[in-house]
Amino acid sequence: MTMQVKFWGVRGSIACPTLRHIRYGGNTSCVEVRVADERVIFDAGTGIRQLGNQLLKKGVKSANLFLSHTHWDHIDGFPFFTPIYQDSFSLVVRAGHLNHLEGGIRSVIDKQMSNPYFPVPIHSLKAQIILEDFDVGTPLTLPGGVVIRSCPLNHPGQATGYRLEHQGRSVCYLTDTEHKPGQPDENILALIQGADLVIYDATYTDAEYLQHVGWGHSTWQEGIRLCRQAKASNLVIFHHDPSHDDDTMAKIEKKARKTWKRAMVARQGMVLSLL
Ligand SMILES: [Zn+2]
Ligand SMILES: [Zn+2]
Repeated sequence: MTMQVKFWGVRGSIACPTLRHIRYGGNTSCVEVRVADERVIFDAGTGIRQLGNQLLKKGVKSANLFLSHTHWDHIDGFPFFTPIYQDSFSLVVRAGHLNHLEGGIRSVIDKQMSNPYFPVPIHSLKAQIILEDFDVGTPLTLPGGVVIRSCPLNHPGQATGYRLEHQGRSVCYLTDTEHKPGQPDENILALIQGADLVIYDATYTDAEYLQHVGWGHSTWQEGIRLCRQAKASNLVIFHHDPSHDDDTMAKIEKKARKTWKRAMVARQGMVLSLL
């Protein structure tokens, strides 16, 4: 049984569809994991539009969407995820960072899809959509024996990190999060322990980070330090800063690989299979 991970959007902050963002991609965060008979989607950035089109083309009828948080770059593709307009489709959207008492994820998506932001209100969507808040840290089990574990991340307004496990294989999705230099995040270390693949917020380099303390993001160097300490097998550098054009990303990729040969840079369209 394989687990397949596809990167539909790898960019942080804002989509940047320019000629200088071709090789690594300009769509914001969206990662699809195909496992057992399930489709698990992490985040609904602009990359989710093309994923939606492909799901419809392939006749897929259901998916689980897990949101790291609801900053724009992680939800701005949601209204353009065309399966939500099909009555044959069912979608469960889950978030762990919101206050249930203030309406949680339902209230956030409801507002996003309302006038004057968007013309199609959520209650008129044809798909069966369940919007669910969950307690971070409590494992969830999806059909097919897929387990989703989670931990809180260090980000303004909070965010959730995930670990998906199935039949001994594991992939972790951790964006957006800020590290404290010299103090590895214990929550993250515990979540990624021995994981096969760790997708990590590497918006900055260690040098750039010094100018962005408190902005809620981390570095590729910290990603490598965490993976090494937690004995994770592979790092995927993710959530690229819009100012990092293709040439900059190529330099980062070269340096990262030289530092740790099991580090790679996420590219839009990239597919990784865990056998
Ligand atoms: Zn982000
Ligand atoms: Zn954010």
